[in-house]
Amino acid sequence: MSNLINGKELAQKIRNGLKDKVVEIKNKGINPKLAVIMVGEDKASKVYVKNKSKACEEIGIDFEEFLLDENTTMEELLGLIEELNSREDVHGILLQSPIPNHLDINKAFNAINYKKDVDGFNPVNVGKLSIGQDCFISCTPFGVIRMLEEYNIPIEGKNAVIIGRSNIVGKPLIQCMLKKNATVTVCHSRTQNIEQITKQADILIVAIGKAKFVTEDMVKEGAVVIDVGINRNDDGKLVGDVDFENVEKKASYITPVPGGVGPMTIAMLMTNVVKAAENFMNENE
Ligand code: NAP
Repeated sequence: MSNLINGKELAQKIRNGLKDKVVEIKNKGINPKLAVIMVGEDKASKVYVKNKSKACEEIGIDFEEFLLDENTTMEELLGLIEELNSREDVHGILLQSPIPNHLDINKAFNAINYKKDVDGFNPVNVGKLSIGQDCFISCTPFGVIRMLEEYNIPIEGKNAVIIGRSNIVGKPLIQCMLKKNATVTVCHSRTQNIEQITKQADILIVAIGKAKFVTEDMVKEGAVVIDVGINRNDDGKLVGDVDFENVEKKASYITPVPGGVGPMTIAMLMTNVVKAAENFMNENE
């Protein structure tokens, strides 16, 4: 039976800590603010944005939402980003994905000033992460690292296996785990004999989006298992990429879904907004 990594509880602890920091920043005359841009009417995005706005409200961060019509042109989107880049009262800018297909999301991410890029998707932040410089780290990988730290799970010298190589989760995780001196192996859809690799993992991080992909026989006894996946099973229930019921018997630590990595993502977004406001304050002292 493994120890449960309680992301919900940890995320609340982080949010509570941020409340105090926000009070300190406000006392120095700065009101931290997050601006969120949404283009079109994506149902899931609306829920995500609502959750972000609630978290901001709880912590004391100002929140401004920009809902653009689905026929918005690239010029209009870039114009809004430019305006938000130049506004001194806005410290963090987030472009909610997905955006309609006629728009170039990478061009939009590139346009966000890297100092306000609280999602960590601008190539400047991605590059800084890869060379170990201070930067904004994409919120989900950042949350995974924070979990491991908070549970005092040793990373240095450990075999870390990451399944998934997306730009928002898998790739930044490679850099984060390398920085922590893990020996990192990355698996993806073309990896052969994946179970031979995952069985070597002291820390196994799974981010692929396939329900219950990781089964008990793929995991080493005593491994730490972090499940980033969010999927719906046939009954409409939220499940991760790991077969939790069976893998938890073998793992030393494991994250549940829901209540694991998910809540950490928003807590780390809030952390990044507060950091952006602090950076602004220090630069303008
Ligand atoms: P993504 O962009 O679709 O990337 C999936 C990755 O998994 C790809 O690198 C893909 O390999 C790999 N993959 C797919 N099938 C595989 C297989 N059978 N064997 C090995 N690798 C396989 O997904 P993502 O955005 O990283 O998200 C992954 C999961 O995490 C999703 O369930 C998503 O909902 C969840 N997620 C959760 C949070 C959170 O806050 N908890 C945040 C973000 C994402 P290729 O590169 O070869 O195609």
